[in-house]
Amino acid sequence: MSHMTFSKPIVMKFGGTSVEDAQAFERVRGIVRASADAPLVIVVSAMSYVTGALRASVRQAASGDAVAGAQMLDEHFERHTNIARALLTTESPIVEAAIASARLESAELLRSVAAQLRPLSLLQDAIISYGELLSAMLLAAVLREAGLPARYVDARRCIITDESYGCAAPLVEETAHQTCAELLPLLEAVKIPVLGGFIASSKSGETTTLGPNSSDYTAALVGAALSALEIQIWTDVTGVLTADPRVVNTARTIPHLSYAEAVELAYSGAKVLHPMTIQSAREQNIPVRICNSRLPQEAGTLVCAETEISPRTIKAIAHKTGVTIVQVTSARMRGAHGFMRSLFEIFDRHRTSVDIVTTSEVSVSLSLDDASALPAILTELRQLGTVEVENNRASICIIGKGLRGTPGIAACVFDTIRDINITLISQGASSINLTFVIDQAHICEAVARLHESFFASTLEETPPVRVLAAVMN
Ligand code: ADP
Ligand code: MG
Repeated sequence: MSHMTFSKPIVMKFGGTSVEDAQAFERVRGIVRASADAPLVIVVSAMSYVTGALRASVRQAASGDAVAGAQMLDEHFERHTNIARALLTTESPIVEAAIASARLESAELLRSVAAQLRPLSLLQDAIISYGELLSAMLLAAVLREAGLPARYVDARRCIITDESYGCAAPLVEETAHQTCAELLPLLEAVKIPVLGGFIASSKSGETTTLGPNSSDYTAALVGAALSALEIQIWTDVTGVLTADPRVVNTARTIPHLSYAEAVELAYSGAKVLHPMTIQSAREQNIPVRICNSRLPQEAGTLVCAETEISPRTIKAIAHKTGVTIVQVTSARMRGAHGFMRSLFEIFDRHRTSVDIVTTSEVSVSLSLDDASALPAILTELRQLGTVEVENNRASICIIGKGLRGTPGIAACVFDTIRDINITLISQGASSINLTFVIDQAHICEAVARLHESFFASTLEETPPVRVLAAVMN
């Protein structure tokens, strides 16, 4: 491995909305320029709506019509071309030519989809990758136009995965090795590498992707490989907020989160963070900062190892909809060995991960985020006992290290939503979260009320006290 003669780089990741149009590209240029004294690596998502359009074009082609599939992409290739024309001068023809080849190549791949020449999942990843390939190439050119020493890097040469198309798992050692080999020489030459998030390749060189919303994960993998000074996630909100801003418009920025709190939040539905991002940053103690590309001067959220004890008992409320509850009841459970193992093996076999688990003497309740394999799972579960399924549930997760030692929080939570029926409750003894499941129809109201109850006060220090007093009265 190359010897590092320069200081550790900062990895800056820009999400789809941060590169949605020419203005957004200009904002990114300003943000990068302001940090360009330090060594930088840039990771960028596809422009907003592009990944969705690419997926839809694959579906169209899979239904037999490759031409209609390709037509669905026209407006998106044009968006890239328009940005090249608006922001580039000398490089515009080269970039426009690259966009034109991407258009031809993707049309060709869509024909392979329609003709079923290769497995759909493999072709789908190859087609979807054009979103990040183009945004990264375009951003590198836009940065160069402003005199910044940016270099486009094909992320598929850095991030190496297994062959689980659509949601591939990175091979950590190969990825670290390849990332250093590709990026260190550029950093040593004082260049700014610019690579697409989300996309990767298998050892055999096929294009793969890391799963929905995973550009953050790319940033973390690159950051870990290079022992980055910091990973910055630039998005369309000012950091991690006390609740999903689409549900609670008074939600506000949380200045500090521990890795543990951030992981819980990410797994519990706060879309602003990809769970694996925090986990890989945590392994090397790399701080993660979440900032707003529209308001770059605002501090946002800093995620790092635990430092001070937060005065606030509860830091955030996360929620998830589309949750399914499965309850298995069996008299065989009582005192029988291996029951739980056979139960979980069924979910494993169908690659379905279980979120919350609660048990009683003779029954187990589990919550699932992804119920697509449920019909097959149910057939097997029925051999273990009686099975009941509840659809359209939502989970709410209350997070904060202060939950550990503060009595009365659960009482306050359940009192706040006492008229809403709760199906499952989970809180471990040393846990920093309290999770429960309700009917999806009540989710917005429940989250809004809980937020009001825990965060309404504008005085930073007082809310937990005020809330507890209310419970004790
Ligand atoms: P990007 O494209 O930049 O990766 P995402 O859409 O993945 O952006 O994540 C940002 C979005 O996450 C926000 O616009 C917001 O709607 C949503 N979100 C959900 N929960 C939270 C939260 N607790 N704090 C901030 N944003 C949240
Ligand atoms: Mg995201």
